[in-house]
Amino acid sequence: MSSAVAASPYTLNHFIGGQSVAPSSGTYLDKLDPRNGEVIARVASGSESDVDQAVRSAHAAFPEWRDMRPMDRGRILLNLAAKIRENVKLLAAMESKETGKPANQVPNELETTARYFEYYAGLVNINHGETINVGAGFHSYTRREPYGVVGSILPWNVPLNQAARAMAPALAVGNVIVGKPSEETSATLCEFARMAVEQCGLPAGVLNVVLGPGRTTGAALVVHPLVRKIAFTGSLRAGKEIGHLAADRILPLTLELGGKSPHIVFEDGDLDKAAVNAAVIFTRNCGQICSSGSRLLVQESVHDAFVEKLVAAVAKISVGPEPEASVGPLATKAQYEKVQGYFDIAKQEGATAVIGGAPPTEPNLQKGFFVKPTVYTNVTNDMRIAREEVFGPVLSVIKFKDEADAIRIANDTDYGLAAGLWTSNISRAHRVAALLEAGQVYINEYQTGAMIEAPFGGYKMSGYGREKGVESLHCYTQLKCVTLKL
Ligand code: NAD
Repeated sequence: MSSAVAASPYTLNHFIGGQSVAPSSGTYLDKLDPRNGEVIARVASGSESDVDQAVRSAHAAFPEWRDMRPMDRGRILLNLAAKIRENVKLLAAMESKETGKPANQVPNELETTARYFEYYAGLVNINHGETINVGAGFHSYTRREPYGVVGSILPWNVPLNQAARAMAPALAVGNVIVGKPSEETSATLCEFARMAVEQCGLPAGVLNVVLGPGRTTGAALVVHPLVRKIAFTGSLRAGKEIGHLAADRILPLTLELGGKSPHIVFEDGDLDKAAVNAAVIFTRNCGQICSSGSRLLVQESVHDAFVEKLVAAVAKISVGPEPEASVGPLATKAQYEKVQGYFDIAKQEGATAVIGGAPPTEPNLQKGFFVKPTVYTNVTNDMRIAREEVFGPVLSVIKFKDEADAIRIANDTDYGLAAGLWTSNISRAHRVAALLEAGQVYINEYQTGAMIEAPFGGYKMSGYGREKGVESLHCYTQLKCVTLKL
């Protein structure tokens, strides 16, 4: 697999039952290099029968994995963590090539990837049930049991990291997996699954990977009768489509969808720190982070001074194809076109671009999917650039009057993934945090989520279920109550 990636264009096949499997249709998709738009890979396009083969392989592996002593499963998860660290250079190079992100940023993401496996390896024995007192003459207890085959459908922004976030807890409690990475970023999950089976003691069939487009390969996974749970991370659009398909099967879902998260700066916050943090957060990973603070709410008394500090911080962020740039290109052509479209929308809506807002003019940014960090002021919360997820380095700055106004604007959105606020008033900090409709709230530093121990997930249309933390284990188990008449 790794030598295949060295070729250009390289070919990626499914990984099923411990084997590389070519698509039954013989069809492959072209994958473009985000740095220059050229074809770098041919990615298998999975059919229903490919998905069926993968699901059956997982289903056959389920009893052995489910019945393994949890401690032994945990040991294998630790092997997976070690394998990621051992191969960090290779995996980082593959992921940098497919996503376009600067190569020096991927090792951090892979370190978190390894930690997911380590963290859940340590939790394999806390998946306890309870004994329940139902009166004399009975012994009643609950068991938390794995679902069986879990379909894990994944996005392209932080590929292997997002896969580990979903898969490590699912595997820890005894599920088996068919993973469907984004057709834009399939290489590292295929390589990782191969290493897991060939070098880490993971039984063949416990982790399978099918490749291909969402509406064919992904949808085939959702409707397969042997799939008992879907964990989906991706857009609201796809989440809705999957939700409709799942409803027909009463199929449990975890949905990790998009966001338009408010990042609130009160006049009593540390404005210097907040400006630097806001600049880093909306440009990180070229803005392709679901929990990015993409709506910046600034109290009107400090608005102008704050915007000045913000723009100064954004101006220092370098964009480019070279490894030392802090922002690379967007990962896909479709995303690039979408973000360009928002520049026109913002103009028509009357927003003011105080930095960016147009295609780059630098000669080294002409090829590929580069976008300059863009900050809009004069934005009101009813504009499309304040309501729709752009998923690029585009920040909408919105003024507010007071605390009540900030909370009203912050919650006036379909989404509810994350929120942040800056204040030196501790009572206000917790008062506002309690009223924000979001699954994670950050006070005095907006973080985009390397905290694997802290539960993460959406309110409202950002989804349901939780990834990360102990809570995630409950999303990958179903509860059975057993009662014995004594
Ligand atoms: P996407 O929804 O286009 O694709 C995600 C995955 O779903 C891909 O593997 C795709 O092939 C598949 N898919 C698409 N349509 C499908 C369908 N009808 N049935 C089954 N599968 C389908 O998302 P993307 O563009 O890859 O990722 C960006 C989106 O993901 C953003 O909206 C971002 O906010 C979101 N995201 C959310 C989180 C989170 O944790 N909440 C994390 C990362 C990304």
